Amino acid sequence: IKISKSYKLASRDFHPDDTVIDIKGVKIGGSNLVIMGGPCAVESPEQIDEIARLVKAAGGQVLRGGAFKPRTGPYSFQGVGVEGLVMMAEAGKKHGLLTITEVMTPEYVDVCAEYADILQVGTRNMQNFDLLRKLGTIQTPVLLKRGFSSTYDEFLNAAEYILAGGNPNVMLCERGIRTFETYTRNTLDLTAIPVLQSLSHLPVISDPSHGTGRRELVEPMSKASVAAGANGLIVEMHTDPDNSMTGDGVQSLFPDQFANLLKQLEQLAPLV
Ligand code: PEP
Ligand code: MN
Repeated sequence: IKISKSYKLASRDFHPDDTVIDIKGVKIGGSNLVIMGGPCAVESPEQIDEIARLVKAAGGQVLRGGAFKPRTGPYSFQGVGVEGLVMMAEAGKKHGLLTITEVMTPEYVDVCAEYADILQVGTRNMQNFDLLRKLGTIQTPVLLKRGFSSTYDEFLNAAEYILAGGNPNVMLCERGIRTFETYTRNTLDLTAIPVLQSLSHLPVISDPSHGTGRRELVEPMSKASVAAGANGLIVEMHTDPDNSMTGDGVQSLFPDQFANLLKQLEQLAPLV
């Protein structure tokens, strides 16, 4: 099927080889499988330090955690802010992990890039064009999450904004889309993985946590994502999910489940 593409730099036609992003020796893209794990939100120095230790012990390479949280309601916990960036950077350094955190506004890009190795653009901000343009002006790798109602074409055009600005280090993340189903929080669109990899050269990361919203579905959908060719996973894990400060405890793995998942994934693909 011939489809007209409005994006260029993100396209596989333009760049036939897989993009591999090398961050301090961790290579994301190609045949490696990168595992990013951690809480939805950074809560305290002790919390992020302990979770970092567990992510590393399980074989993960990247510590995830939000210091700025894009909450649906204005009265919900909004994240601990810049202090959280400092806490996460310290934990990452201590345990030998890269870090990824969400940036929500152009004004905070520089400070987030100062503390984190990868910047995450959340689903609600996929078409925040001012944010995307700002991310194009730096070289810090960006994990761009698919908007929950966005087509592949819209998704790749959002990536194009960052690439066109001069930052080639972009990863695409499928995190579930909105469908008529309500049993799951979102519908993880596994088809996106091979489709995006055929349309684009950029690494594709799957988020089975937000993609399902249910802890018991994270393992099967992680395996399915790897089987579909994902270049990595971003998975929520918490030492005390029932008391986590965002509502995402229900989708967060317990540390032993996270460790067990990585053990099983090693059979399917080499971890980075
Ligand atoms: C998150 O990673 O915690 C998050 C808020 O993700 P999303 O933007 O996919 O909802
Ligand atoms: Mn979350």
